[in-house]
Amino acid sequence: MIFFQPKGFVVYSYEYFLGLCEKGPRSTFDCAKFRKIRTALLKEKMIRSREILEPEPAGWDDFLLVHKPEYVEKLKDPQTLGKILFLDYVSPFDTDIIEFFMWVTGGTILSMKTAYEKQVPVFNLGGGYHHGKPGKGEGFCPVNDVAVGIRRFQEKYGKKRVLVVDLDYHQGNGTALIFKDDDSCFTYSLHRDTWDEINSATNMDVELPDHCADGEYLEALQTTLPGILDTFSPDLLVYVAGGDPHRDDTLGTFELTDRGMLERDIYVMSQAKARNCPVAVLAGGGYGPESWKLYYRFIKCVMRGRCDV
Ligand SMILES: [Zn+2]
Repeated sequence: MIFFQPKGFVVYSYEYFLGLCEKGPRSTFDCAKFRKIRTALLKEKMIRSREILEPEPAGWDDFLLVHKPEYVEKLKDPQTLGKILFLDYVSPFDTDIIEFFMWVTGGTILSMKTAYEKQVPVFNLGGGYHHGKPGKGEGFCPVNDVAVGIRRFQEKYGKKRVLVVDLDYHQGNGTALIFKDDDSCFTYSLHRDTWDEINSATNMDVELPDHCADGEYLEALQTTLPGILDTFSPDLLVYVAGGDPHRDDTLGTFELTDRGMLERDIYVMSQAKARNCPVAVLAGGGYGPESWKLYYRFIKCVMRGRCDV
């Protein structure tokens, strides 16, 4: 009998519905982004429906692994969430907002578990809310699903070493703060602005200038990431593959091309693969109507084992 070993998995649920899009978000985030990616991957037969894994939602207890109890209590009020997410109008009955974050965090937890157990890349179609801090949400991130996922992962498998490679345009400041005194988790972030200076032996922040293009960006990545992988030697790599360094992004000021973005993604995957380190990928940011195509192309390329740049 021949067992088919999938090249990877996608994590998605119809519950990843961004109800907040109907509540006046002041952002150019495409709320249909992740559904579009799922549809396109299926339509082009890049994945089969059995390779799309459905998560369970995370619960308040999961949030408490990272966030302070008094802050988690506040998150139970939809109007607190509305302020963090800059929504124009939120009613006290809008529980769908926190439910969205529970489902996506559940997806992040499932992505890390599956990547580790099956030793193949797993892509959550969402997640990467890296600005969330223990007692505070900022930058559209009320809950830090990256950190919740890592804590749940370590609870299940012991204190495994986790490396977060955060290539979103924005600094992974919340994740870095959460793990700054925890030597089982190294946080690496390549970004435009350093929102918080993190003094930790297990954090590296690399800041790049406005208009940074493919060459400069990839060089910065290639001169820093391999050394961290070699010295830290992670059991799991969590990749926050934000699409906002792209030149057409409506928030970012970098000028990476389609090719540069894909080279970036494949570089991270190949560095991990060379060291037999499994990778869980989270979507991170990425704004504007075309942004979905970046994550889509990346997943397509891994699933096919071949990339058309
Ligand atoms: Zn971002």
